[in-house]
Amino acid sequence: MSEPLSASESDLKHDHTIDPDMLSDAAVSVTRTLHQAGFEALLVGGCVRDLLLGYRPKDYDVATDATPEQVQDLFRRSRIIGRRFRIVHVRMGREIIEVTTFRGAPEDIDSVARSDRGRILADNTWGDLDSDAQRRDFTINALYYDPITNEGIDHVDGLADLEDSIIRVIGEPYRRFAEDPVRLLRAVRFMAKLGFDLSPESRSALEECVEFLGDVPAARLFDEVLKVFHNGRGELACQLLKQFNMLEILFPVLEPWLKDDADAIPPIIGKALANTDARVQQGKPVIAPFLFTAMLWMPIQARFEQLKDAGKPPIEALHRATDQVVADECHSVAIPRRVSSVVREILEIEHRLAERRSRSIHGLLENRRFRAAYDFMLLRNAVGERDDELVKWWTDIQDAPEPVVVEMISALKASSGKRRSRSRRTRKRKPSECQE
Ligand code: ATP
Ligand code: MG
Repeated sequence: MSEPLSASESDLKHDHTIDPDMLSDAAVSVTRTLHQAGFEALLVGGCVRDLLLGYRPKDYDVATDATPEQVQDLFRRSRIIGRRFRIVHVRMGREIIEVTTFRGAPEDIDSVARSDRGRILADNTWGDLDSDAQRRDFTINALYYDPITNEGIDHVDGLADLEDSIIRVIGEPYRRFAEDPVRLLRAVRFMAKLGFDLSPESRSALEECVEFLGDVPAARLFDEVLKVFHNGRGELACQLLKQFNMLEILFPVLEPWLKDDADAIPPIIGKALANTDARVQQGKPVIAPFLFTAMLWMPIQARFEQLKDAGKPPIEALHRATDQVVADECHSVAIPRRVSSVVREILEIEHRLAERRSRSIHGLLENRRFRAAYDFMLLRNAVGERDDELVKWWTDIQDAPEPVVVEMISALKASSGKRRSRSRRTRKRKPSECQE
């Protein structure tokens, strides 16, 4: 039987009741259409959790007893996606509502496909609301809300955990982490994003199961890794990942830089994430390539130096180093080519910004990666890898009116002319010096 949330609603701290004005029209409309067709339908998961905490949800999930095909028949602009976990994406205006069919009870779980270590490979057995709640990851993510009747349902004591700021795995934590180790990463994401703590049993299971993260197919981890770093508390999430020894599983290429100093994350990564957090909190866009540029920079730089020492020209060395490190990292987290190709461009442009060749300045200012490359140069400056003077020059020139730009470029030409003739003189003098 369903237990309405309203009994404990009055106990919620800080007036955390659901404000119907915060609900998206699209989510309400999808729920209503399903009701009118005779199905059960409720909002569930992150959106209910966020509404109760007083945040505006960024997306909505609807759970229903209609099968994916029945859902698809009701909505013209809908499609079934996923194999391991089939869901329906219903498009309403600019929003996409994810509609999932109630999953089956844990007792049915033996019928689902599993790997040797118990990882669930497919989960498309249908059930009712109660079994659906038991199959979700954490109690705070298994709260249901009917926007039409304004009724909430809590089968797992999630409301109490929400009030106490606790992340608690539903069911036996070790088994639940083993059957889907992505939940380890999700636990860290919610700890960071919500500032919640793990329940003691969930924490010890998480610590025991960390190595299972390495079993998750690399393709599935890309989106989850992005979510963990782009949630507005990425720096904290990264510290937690380091603390739980998950960072080295997700980024084995970083291993040499993660050995010392138990809790600290490498400065360039910390600064990149702090920067990303500030942007997310201000509602500014953040991009995956910038994140991966910062995450992979240290190994890329090490490889770059080796290749240059072996006589490769700098740009070729930089491209090769990037390609090699990305290829290595793709064994753990599959970085799509659309992302890695931009990482390559950002690094090339940043290198050219540092070269400051007078003939390339206009082209660089107009380059579509200028902004990201300049931001990356700021990061390198913050960790002492780029001069203040260089950064100031690029900061000034990008906002300067054209006559000033021209002036700055001629000043640059003059000074590099001087530098060149000086170096030519020194080169010429050397042999005679040697002969003396
Ligand atoms: P966010 O606000 O970041 O979107 P969310 O909780 O909504 O967080 P989603 O990835 O959108 O996260 O998933 C929606 C819901 O589906 C979750 O709240 C949870 O109930 C369930 N869920 C998602 N992934 C898993 C998983 N790996 N195991 C069990 N349940 C899951
Ligand atoms: Mg969600």
